[in-house]
Amino acid sequence: MKNFALRTRLETLKQQGLYRSRRIIESPQSSRIIIDGCECLNFCSNDYLGLANHPKVVQAFQAATNIYGVGSGSAHLICGHSVAHHNLEAEIAAFTGNERAVLFSTGYMANIGVITALLGRGDAVFEDKLNHASLLDGGLFSGAKFKRYLHADMQNLANKLQTSTAQKKLIISDGVFSMDGDIAPIKDLVKLSQQHQAALMLDDAHGFGVLGATGAGTLEHNALQATDVDILVGTFGKAFGTAGAFVAGSEALIETLIQAARTYIYTTAMPAAIAVATSASLKLLMHETWRRETLHSLIMQFKQGATQLGLQLMPSDSAIQPILIGETNKTVAISQKLLQLGFLVTAIRPPTVSPDTARLRITLTSQHKTQDVDALLTALAQVIT
Ligand SMILES: *Cc1c(COP(=O)(O)O)cnc(C)c1O
Repeated sequence: MKNFALRTRLETLKQQGLYRSRRIIESPQSSRIIIDGCECLNFCSNDYLGLANHPKVVQAFQAATNIYGVGSGSAHLICGHSVAHHNLEAEIAAFTGNERAVLFSTGYMANIGVITALLGRGDAVFEDKLNHASLLDGGLFSGAKFKRYLHADMQNLANKLQTSTAQKKLIISDGVFSMDGDIAPIKDLVKLSQQHQAALMLDDAHGFGVLGATGAGTLEHNALQATDVDILVGTFGKAFGTAGAFVAGSEALIETLIQAARTYIYTTAMPAAIAVATSASLKLLMHETWRRETLHSLIMQFKQGATQLGLQLMPSDSAIQPILIGETNKTVAISQKLLQLGFLVTAIRPPTVSPDTARLRITLTSQHKTQDVDALLTALAQVIT
């Protein structure tokens, strides 16, 4: 490619320790996975409840392919919207306590679709600085005035809302922040949205399945009602263990999205069998509360052990437990040493996180054993000096 200087660009990334490469996984997703023929303990999956390879979910998927085949054949608005999708939408609406829900093919697309469908020039969007990339991109793509407030800083958000003259205002936050693991100050967000007549959108990709007695996420964890937020987004690729996403809210919201969300309209529907598998995983997620209990006791075990070792944890009670290292190359070196010892823990580097805050992002799942966590702690003590 003339004038693009791709080689130079790649070399620069390598020198800065920012070059990314993919690990090739040769096994199903699990707490133990096989890389290069070697089994290692996996501490970076978002499959928090161990459902990605659960026999009931797999079986539901297989049975559904016998009925629906593989491809959905079309977009939802043409002829790709099957009874399987429709049923899952109803189940998700009931689960989240909303009037309606609509499926998207990915969480990234859900966020882009929602924000660009609802906002345009002259409107204003207020986003936490640490929001997921898809929320930030959606805000930018929408053409609305784009305001980022300091992470979880409600005074900073209040100031920005105060000075905005926009007619339509939308506040957007992650429920559980994906690289830090902390939970959004959702009660204060609800209050501010009411005081300033702004709408509130919550992306609970990492909260669903993990937080709340029935796994309904950040709202349930905070004893809030579905109606306290205007737009609720969840993804199926994490605790649900499948793929895709949903948006839940009022009848009017969902109908508007079906008319206007371009990432909904102009894309092929997810395979119907994925919807059936997701219905099966929803049942497990709601009813097998032992998965959440196991996960939370592992989280406690990890936090206590890491604190005793003097490791620098972040203020997180979720399944995401980052250890702040700081320097990028050092973080990558530690991650490599851990892999040599048989532990997969990814190094999270800029631009995913801000400069000098590179970290090891450890995620726990209900499939880990207490011995696995002990072994990880021993390995961390060995490699972090
Ligand atoms: C993972 C994630 C997404 C993207 O969801 P996909 O289905 O993986 O595209 C969106 N928002 C948040 C907060 C996420 O963590």
